[in-house]
Amino acid sequence: MTKFDYEAEIAFRSPAPGHWPEVSPADWNDPKWQLKNRVQSLEDLESRITLSEEERAGILLTGTKLAAAVTPHFFNLIDPNDPNCPIRRQVIPRIEETFDTPGEMSDPCGEDSHMPVPGLVHRYPDRVLFLVTDRCASYCRYCTRSRVVSGVGDQHLETQWEAAFEYLENTPEVRDVLLSGGDPLLLSDNRLERILTRLRAIPHIQFVRIGSRIPIFLPQRITPELCAMLRKFHPLFISIHTNHPRELTSEVRDALGRLADAGIPLGNQSVLLKDVNDTVDVQRALVHKLLLCRARPYYLYQCDLIKGSNHLRTPTRKGLEIIEQLRGHTSGYAIPQLVIDAPGGGGKIPLNPNYVVRGDDGEILLRNYEGREFLYPEVADLGTALLSYKR
Ligand SMILES: *Cc1c(COP(=O)(O)O)cnc(C)c1O
Repeated sequence: MTKFDYEAEIAFRSPAPGHWPEVSPADWNDPKWQLKNRVQSLEDLESRITLSEEERAGILLTGTKLAAAVTPHFFNLIDPNDPNCPIRRQVIPRIEETFDTPGEMSDPCGEDSHMPVPGLVHRYPDRVLFLVTDRCASYCRYCTRSRVVSGVGDQHLETQWEAAFEYLENTPEVRDVLLSGGDPLLLSDNRLERILTRLRAIPHIQFVRIGSRIPIFLPQRITPELCAMLRKFHPLFISIHTNHPRELTSEVRDALGRLADAGIPLGNQSVLLKDVNDTVDVQRALVHKLLLCRARPYYLYQCDLIKGSNHLRTPTRKGLEIIEQLRGHTSGYAIPQLVIDAPGGGGKIPLNPNYVVRGDDGEILLRNYEGREFLYPEVADLGTALLSYKR
């Protein structure tokens, strides 16, 4: 493996036009052109990069599982000379996706059994996940919702719009709505505006957020018009999804800047993936570069037990080692919370390195990020002192 070059990885670059030298800048910057020209077939792929046997077999089998599609913008980030390129592993299918490993599931987070209305997942007391589309700009091979996403599998997302809005109107405990899918920012400005307007008409909904990888896959979609529309619905947060510092190109940085300038706080969700971002070097560069883009690392997910993901998963101790090597060593704002979304539907469970060496009634023994130990005395009982003072 080549040595990790921090300075090179946190530098902002544009890969455009790369494999598409003939395209005009106007077309390149048009999100419709990007979507129409996605790399999807074996032929498209092989005309641009050399595929391994595992990839060729993988792409031939995606038709009934999760479609393959990569926007030209993102495709250009693939290093054609690196068979283990961290970008490539996220979006180019491999034969291992068809392998079944014990414990893997088609609905690893148990969402289907927590839907009071089709398309609306209500797991936690005060917030819901609202699935507003089944399409994305590009398809992540480890997609936790591949059972419905991309439209090629047996199961389909059948969001019942009117029933979902009525459920939200009649459920005052819900104060937080998370729009996801698929990718909500793939909907037109008009469509999104209608959804947001309807949600904002519900007085008990305080907080709205959108989960989207569009800023990464298709930064051209983050137009000034979209930003001007979104800012009418504050407080509105966006959770982006970035796994490797190379994904943060100069186009992506500018798109995130437009969202941040519209007053939208940005959080990032990463999935810990084998040979993509499972080292502290990659994670440090990623979280630093995210802060340069004004996006705060929010969650680092242990990869869900989605079918055919064994080749992308890491041991759970990996994530803990990475967090331990970040905490204290770099800005607190740069450190995501490591979580496992519990198999079967228990929700997100935080995983943290243990900094408590021992604790008893009188004091707690802690260790710091360097391994040095410190005693913190527990709060004293002032009962007798107070009594003598009053006398
Ligand atoms: C992740 C998730 C949420 C949001 O969880 P936060 O910890 O508040 O970010 C809500 N509902 C479901 C079903 C989720 O999976």
